[in-house]
Order: sequence, then structure tokens, then C-alpha cells
Amino acid sequence: MFFHVRDLDVRAARFDLEIAPGQIDYQDGNLRQARALKTAGKAELVTGALGEIRVSGHVTVAMEDDCDRCLETARFLVDSDFALYYRPVDEGYGDDKEIDSGEAEMGFYEGDGVELNDVLREQVLLALPMQRVCSEDCKGICPVCGQNRNQRDCQCQTAASDDRWSALKELAIKGERKKN
Ligand SMILES: [Zn+2]
Ligand SMILES: [Zn+2]
Repeated sequence: MFFHVRDLDVRAARFDLEIAPGQIDYQDGNLRQARALKTAGKAELVTGALGEIRVSGHVTVAMEDDCDRCLETARFLVDSDFALYYRPVDEGYGDDKEIDSGEAEMGFYEGDGVELNDVLREQVLLALPMQRVCSEDCKGICPVCGQNRNQRDCQCQTAASDDRWSALKELAIKGERKKN
């Protein structure tokens, strides 16, 4: 759904729709929708700001990504209100840095308006946690044998380092003895 700035100048546009998985490219690794995204809200021009578009509403979607630690599927439920602002690049807004730090999320658009799918992608990425893990206490993958330690505790990290140390110690002791 595309919001043309000239149409918004006449009246605000309302939306209430479902977007199937695959229609929005999240451009973020393996990040994907698990189910249809649901969203409702409106797009409107901001009064007194030349060509500035405000898109606000609510979005609900179940997302999936590879867990940062164990690479199994990690699931996230996004269920949030949003209000994002877009200024036209060609009004010179793109050059100045007059964006208040306290202001809501501000983006820019090129051309005639804003594509809803781009707004939704941005909002979903904002709503996701920085660290994407399958669970807070995910134990991750063993760097030695590659075992997913959530499924089975291989115990080889401590064992391997212990063995290496004791082997070194033995060598050192033997070396001492040879000298004598
Ligand atoms: Zn994990
Ligand atoms: Zn291991």
C-alpha cells in the first residue's frame, strides 16, 4: 500500500490489513515472519510541516530468526503501537540536522510518498530485541565439538582445557627431570 503525498493532502488514509509472510523483505539475515502480519492505522500529513508524513497505528506479528547463540529458531512476538515520521528528502530536510533527540522516529522518503511495507519493516526491526536468542538462558553451541548445549551437555570445553594444561605440566615436569 503506497501513500501518495498528494492524496494525503486531500485526506488521511486508513489501513487495516494482513500481510502474508514473504511480502515484506526485512533485509536482515534470516529474519522472517512466522505468520501473517496484522496492522491497522492511518497515514496523514503533519500540519504545518511541508510534505511531512506521519504513519501511526498498531502492528502484531510473530517473527522468527536464527538464535544468536545456538542457531536454532528463535521466536519473537511483536505487538506494538507505532508512530513514524517521514520527511521528503527533496525539501532540503535531508541536509539539516534539526531533528530533536526527543522526537519520535524520523525517516526520509524520496519521490511521491511512503510505502507501508517499508514503514512496517522499520517498525518491526525497532520492536525486536538487540540480542535475538531462543531463550534468555540459551547455552549456545560448544566451540569445541559443535554440540548444541541446550540439547546435550558435551562437557568438552572444560575437559579439553584441563587436559591441555595437565599435558603441558607433565611435559614441563619431564623436562625438569631430564635436565637433572
Ligand atoms: Zn539459542
Ligand atoms: Zn563440546
